[in-house]
Amino acid sequence: MKYNLKKNVIERYSRQIILKNVGVAGQKKIINSKVLVVGAGGLGCPVIDTLSRAGVGTIGIADQDKVSLSNIHRQNLYNFQDVGKFKVDVVKKKIKSINKYTKLIKLKKKITEKNILKIFKNYEIIVDGSDNFKTKFLLNKYSIKYNKTLIVGAISKFDGHVFTFNFKNKKTPCLKCFYQSMPSDDLLNCESEGVLGSIAGIVGNIQANEVLKHILNIGKDLKGSILILNLLSLNLRKANYSKKKKCICSK
Ligand SMILES: [Zn+2]
Repeated sequence: MKYNLKKNVIERYSRQIILKNVGVAGQKKIINSKVLVVGAGGLGCPVIDTLSRAGVGTIGIADQDKVSLSNIHRQNLYNFQDVGKFKVDVVKKKIKSINKYTKLIKLKKKITEKNILKIFKNYEIIVDGSDNFKTKFLLNKYSIKYNKTLIVGAISKFDGHVFTFNFKNKKTPCLKCFYQSMPSDDLLNCESEGVLGSIAGIVGNIQANEVLKHILNIGKDLKGSILILNLLSLNLRKANYSKKKKCICSK
């Protein structure tokens, strides 16, 4: 098979192309991939940053918020001058300066039951960078329905959680199998609970890493387990859970 990547494109990605697991063929896969990132906040920013640098061809960003001063300590795509501007507008400009080959699609809207199909059909991989369980459960439900890969992240204080679901595999348990009922958003509330910028960067980059692994079809994913990080104790562990018989993912 012949891969015609321009010389400057090869140079741009040369440090990852030399990885045996990537190569020119893998880079082509990355360039042809389409990823939806829901939320351009503490998790979304590092996800979008890393994926655009890696060469992901199309990134959709769903976010309707404006940048606030209290975002900047952890949301690394924004500067002081961006306060008051829509996040998707700022991100589009920023990514253009990082990697002109990444097509950024702005979705200045909340994802709902009504618009989700229209949005989802353009993407294979969905990254959850939301700060509420209602959105996480909605993404879970429709990722099951449309056989998407969903990568969920959650952060609070010094703690982080990551889930990876590949719903093409019908044996994969889902987010609801783990939580069963919707937890309170207090668990994710950076405003009341506080959060360190570093945990957002670390969890977001783990999510980006999961995306790249999925695109390249390499490594092991978190099927049937949750990755739990605590940065105070530097504890990193996986906890297994099983598919529930009466769950929405079993129907
Ligand atoms: Zn389930």
